[in-house]
Amino acid sequence: MAMPSAKWSHFGTSIFSVMTMAARRNGAINLAQGFPNFDGPEEIKEAAIAAIRGDFNQYAHSHGIPKLRELLASRMKKVSNLSYDSENEVTVFSGATEALFCVFQAFLNQGDEVLTFAPFFDCYPAGAFSVGAKLVEVPLRSPDWTFTAEDLETRWTTSTKAILVNTPHNPTGRVFSRLEMEMIASFAKKHDLLVITDEVYEELVYDHKPFTRMATIPGMRQRTVVISSTAKTFSLTGWKIGYIFAPPELTKELRAVHQFTVFCAATPLQAGICAALELGDEYYEKLRKDYQVRRDFLCEGLQKLGFKFHKPEGTYFVVADYSHISIRPDTEFTLQLVETKKVALIPTSVFYTDPTSTAQRQHYVRFAFCKDIETLKAGLDHLA
Ligand code: PMP
Ligand code: GLN
Repeated sequence: MAMPSAKWSHFGTSIFSVMTMAARRNGAINLAQGFPNFDGPEEIKEAAIAAIRGDFNQYAHSHGIPKLRELLASRMKKVSNLSYDSENEVTVFSGATEALFCVFQAFLNQGDEVLTFAPFFDCYPAGAFSVGAKLVEVPLRSPDWTFTAEDLETRWTTSTKAILVNTPHNPTGRVFSRLEMEMIASFAKKHDLLVITDEVYEELVYDHKPFTRMATIPGMRQRTVVISSTAKTFSLTGWKIGYIFAPPELTKELRAVHQFTVFCAATPLQAGICAALELGDEYYEKLRKDYQVRRDFLCEGLQKLGFKFHKPEGTYFVVADYSHISIRPDTEFTLQLVETKKVALIPTSVFYTDPTSTAQRQHYVRFAFCKDIETLKAGLDHLA
């Protein structure tokens, strides 16, 4: 038999799988993959269980169950004052991961260029690869992880079709300022680009910092595809319920792809998420408050251990400079740590298109603080 071509093997195994497996193998504290070591509220789980017991187990509407789309639209209206029509502008996906994949499939073609800020979440290059598009990185400059208008302009070419903006940002924890978002918006308008926003950490913003949503900037709603997920907001990363808000003509394209990737997200879990969206404001306030305590605990501990970092304004990650401990490249350093200190972290060089360029010389690792205080304490103790 002729061997099929090895089209995807160069992607290897995702760093999240690699480090979680290494953590298990070594009995290490897992501060690597971004999943909480606690579950979301019981009433959400009970609602999903009731849906399963109530025979709500067959294919859902491909676009997402209507009630969930309505609840997502009301939540969006409440937090941003943006109105989206649940019938024609809201679609439920199997996680933001599937949503991102469908966005690439729907809007990008061979040879198109997509700008994104580096470091970036690991599935972006795969989405680009799936359609033969090129991911062009705009570096966020350490130690503050900022960029300039010039950084965007110098990377624009006639092939640039879109810009993918993740804020709050994984892995740096940056929440882009109003000024930065306006800079991106002006750039997108000037060059007539589609803007894809990845807002999965939208509810994890600390110290009352304002979160600017791209679609709220005048003139941007019609060119913006808003991707988000219930994974982080409700501490249910294994449920894989994500969603997209987009104008009708863009939604139509996305739904055409989604119906052939998974057809629909898991029906009873969509029902469970309806219960999640019926929680009051106090849920979100507590979520942020608890995460802020975890962030401060980890940051204080890292500071005592001599790590240098930009305190995250959002997300549940801290990117820290370990050059006072080792000059080894980050991938080697994290493998050494998981074996000898029993702490699993993520090397940040994997979040660049060329991991051997500036990234590895930077000596940064990512810590996830979506863990209870005892686990964070154990991780810090091991490092000490
Ligand atoms: N985007 C970013 C920035 C992420 O960190 C993640 C990881 N959860 C995703 C998208 C994927 O979200 P989901 O788990 O809903 O597929
Ligand atoms: N978003 C999670 C992180 O950055 C991981 C998601 C995944 O494992 N695909 O750690």
